[in-house]
Amino acid sequence: MAGESLAASGFRMEPGGKGFNQAVAARRLGAEVDGLFAVGDDALGALAAAAFAHADLDPAMLRRRPGATGAGVGFIAEDGETAIAVFSGANASLSAQDAQDARPAIEAAAVTLAQFEIGDAAIAEGFAIARGADRITVLNPSPFRPVAPEILATCSIVVANAVETEALALALGVEADLDAEAVAAALFALGVSALVATCGAAGAIARLSDGAILTQPAFEVEAVDTIGAGDAFAAGFATTFAETGDWPKSLRHAAACGALAVRAEGGFGAFPTRVERDALLAA
Ligand code: ADP
Repeated sequence: MAGESLAASGFRMEPGGKGFNQAVAARRLGAEVDGLFAVGDDALGALAAAAFAHADLDPAMLRRRPGATGAGVGFIAEDGETAIAVFSGANASLSAQDAQDARPAIEAAAVTLAQFEIGDAAIAEGFAIARGADRITVLNPSPFRPVAPEILATCSIVVANAVETEALALALGVEADLDAEAVAAALFALGVSALVATCGAAGAIARLSDGAILTQPAFEVEAVDTIGAGDAFAAGFATTFAETGDWPKSLRHAAACGALAVRAEGGFGAFPTRVERDALLAA
């Protein structure tokens, strides 16, 4: 309630952000990960560097900028209701020039995965470099904002959850149908070659511009905490797609990673290793 000070029953601080989470999830699956990240010159920036090293991610991929590191604060009520505010901080400083400076890494990467906690300029330039080198680009438009045309023009695959798919429908001026057919068609017309629409425990459906439709049921697990499911799914998909280019396999692996992430509490702490993923796939 505005103006009120309340007593809290607990406090937890952990490194995060969708980009960091997805990088950790992919690294845990054994992917070689490089990336474009920014931190400020404050205490959180130092913590982020330590978190990168702890996750076996090279802290050299962090660009250091004057000012505050991006951060989010969430309040969780007793009934589980949440309120979250995210401040971009140094993330907002990532530019087209930063993407240019990362050109060798982007050109070498089989897949470039971007999400919306950084600005359009860095994503558009990064995607253009990747596509120029005949690489795959994957966009996870989260947290949602309307997708700039120059990003869509260089985006191979969009991975979106139900809320984002609905927002995409609104932004593209099409009907928000349950199985995302109209959204996919609108994206194809703008240059995208596939839409993967995820829907929590209802699984995921991928529509490809060649007309193929692949449905991927969710693995049955006891959901403890659904935070991070989308990040685990996106990273799981990107990792296997980079390794194999195989659609059914990539979707299955993504769903296994999503399921394993909801089975345990917390965000990145719950992301599976390759061994854990493979154990669920073999079960
Ligand atoms: P987000 O976390 O971005 O909202 P979703 O909730 O759609 O994304 O979850 C992404 C994927 O993770 C789903 O397509 C599914 O494969 C897996 N997943 C999510 N929730 C569950 C669940 N309760 N049980 C099993 N798998 C789940």
